[in-house]
Amino acid sequence: MLCALCRQHVSRFGAWKSASGKMYCSEFCAEAETIEPETVTAPTPLPQREQR
Ligand SMILES: [Zn+2]
Repeated sequence: MLCALCRQHVSRFGAWKSASGKMYCSEFCAEAETIEPETVTAPTPLPQREQR
């Protein structure tokens, strides 16, 4: 089978199943799929300073 996120080959013994029933290669891919976009906070832009 293939990972639902990164499309890597996943062994049936090492696959992670998310709450939606999709299979992933690792818990990181499984969590990345379940993370809601609203919970991801955008990084605050650093103030740009002129260098002399
Ligand atoms: Zn993956």
